[in-house]
Amino acid sequence: MSLPIDIDSVKGFLHPEEGQALLESAATLDSPRPAVEIGSYCGKSTVYFGVGCQQAGRKLFAVDHHQGSEEHQAGEFFHDTSLADGSGGINSFDAFRATMRAALLTDTVLPVVTESVIFADAWTLPVAMLFIDGGHSLAAAMADYRAWAGKIEQGGLLAIHDVFPNAEDGGQAPATVYRLAIASGLFKERDSVHSLRILERL
Ligand code: SAH
Ligand code: MG
Repeated sequence: MSLPIDIDSVKGFLHPEEGQALLESAATLDSPRPAVEIGSYCGKSTVYFGVGCQQAGRKLFAVDHHQGSEEHQAGEFFHDTSLADGSGGINSFDAFRATMRAALLTDTVLPVVTESVIFADAWTLPVAMLFIDGGHSLAAAMADYRAWAGKIEQGGLLAIHDVFPNAEDGGQAPATVYRLAIASGLFKERDSVHSLRILERL
């Protein structure tokens, strides 16, 4: 499925095949409920997820404080100097908004610029599809799972990014969340593409 923009021009951390899996899951999911993304950065995953939601007529709440995770800060491995905010931090919100405008997604993607768990406190609706790709410390990943997983409706989907079964390939927090979700008996695996896992809420 073709995208409304050149996705390679959008900064981010998502394999195109992972993106397509997000898109197709969101487009084919039969539910009138909204979707939520935790961790949008400059909008690469949001384009795929948002196009799928747009096709299904569903809104996507894209949650990110846009101050970057630990690995995006100055001096860290994934720091991008073009996102420096001039006072020692980073700001991905301007880039994110430009991406959404270019991808014709402003009718579908509603940016929520705050901490994931703060927004979770205020969110009372069932969620059709949740994508977790926020902070990757164990504390952050677990907090996102605890705050949000219980809001996914029956038959809804939980997508988790950066699940690396082997510790040599990457940090283990998302894999820990993935294993916890499966072990809970509340989710079963539906799709696996590179480091993306898509689970169904039973
Ligand atoms: N999904 C993106 C990559 C996300 S990177 C892509 O496809 O490219 C992780 C993002 O999570 C960062 O933008 C960071 O600002 C955000 N983040 C980290 N911890 C967060 C928290 N507690 N609440 C909201 N956003 C958070
Ligand atoms: Mg990721």
